[in-house]
Amino acid sequence: MPDPRATDPTSPVCEVEDLTMHFGPVHAVDGVSFRVNRGQVLALVGESGSGKSTVGRCITRLYKPTSGTVRLTGTDVTGLSRRAMRPHRRTVSIIFQDPASSLDPRLSVADIVGEPMRLQGVDRAERSDRVNEMLEQVGLARSVLQRYPHEMSGGQRQRVSLARALVSRPSLLVADEPTSALDVSVQAGVLNLLADLQRELGFACLFITHNLSAVEYIADDVAVMYLGQLVEQGTREQVFTRPRHPYTQALLSAAPVADPDQQRERRRVVLSGELPSPLDPPSGCRFHTRCPVAVDICRVEVPALRMIGSQSAACHLVDDEGNGPDVRDRTVATSTRGSETG
Ligand code: SF4
Repeated sequence: MPDPRATDPTSPVCEVEDLTMHFGPVHAVDGVSFRVNRGQVLALVGESGSGKSTVGRCITRLYKPTSGTVRLTGTDVTGLSRRAMRPHRRTVSIIFQDPASSLDPRLSVADIVGEPMRLQGVDRAERSDRVNEMLEQVGLARSVLQRYPHEMSGGQRQRVSLARALVSRPSLLVADEPTSALDVSVQAGVLNLLADLQRELGFACLFITHNLSAVEYIADDVAVMYLGQLVEQGTREQVFTRPRHPYTQALLSAAPVADPDQQRERRRVVLSGELPSPLDPPSGCRFHTRCPVAVDICRVEVPALRMIGSQSAACHLVDDEGNGPDVRDRTVATSTRGSETG
């Protein structure tokens, strides 16, 4: 039997090309391209305000992109109306950060989980069987079927969201910061569950987060966004062991490490300033106002996202072999001077 989790590069579930999303003068996403293959978990990483959630909403067509293309299992869904999009709702599902606001408070768990199937015309008996099966898969007892969202804990509500999102067996799940609104004590349980379900059911996943520990745990590949653009992409191992872009290096330097000795020894990059406004993004490389190694060309010329082997990075100082600065070499130890990268 084929491994349901096998990543298949010949079978993209989602292809995003030159995606742009402007909200009036706000350039939330500008020219983003990537693909998610069958069975692959691609983490989309960046600070709050980087545009990563907007990308997720464009893919699920909660937003209509300003330009560019979104293809789901080979079909261009970019310009589809709500009605024309309906058949593709089985292909892609989304879960959000805060299940308290994303679940309809007037519906019971049975109705919340069964609703996508009801809209697809699945009969009541089959709906009931599949709801029961799905609840078991997300680790909830049948006794919750008649409860309402406000009667459940945050972790239970997120399990209900997962059950609802997966009940129609989508090819792609967009998980938008799925654990960051939960108590720390239940985050790991929900993340483990998501990883187990992904292995078991084999869906592809766009995992949107700022939590690099979660990325290391769950992702096959990583794409890093800064101010509406992709700045680096590669396998998890490539990005974690040899980040090429100064922004990725800064993000990694600020992520917590489990080993206390390593944590003490590590150097943390001090990024100056706040994330600039997407209303008026900086010229040239958008990161130049905060980049510790910026040079003159960075202020005037936009660096292309170039392939370096199977990894890619958008930085003028990274050569075709992938050699370039590591901003972590230029900084002071955390124990003497700490700062946020956001
Ligand atoms: Fe820094 Fe320049 Fe590279 Fe941008 S292009 S990341 S400003 S060195």
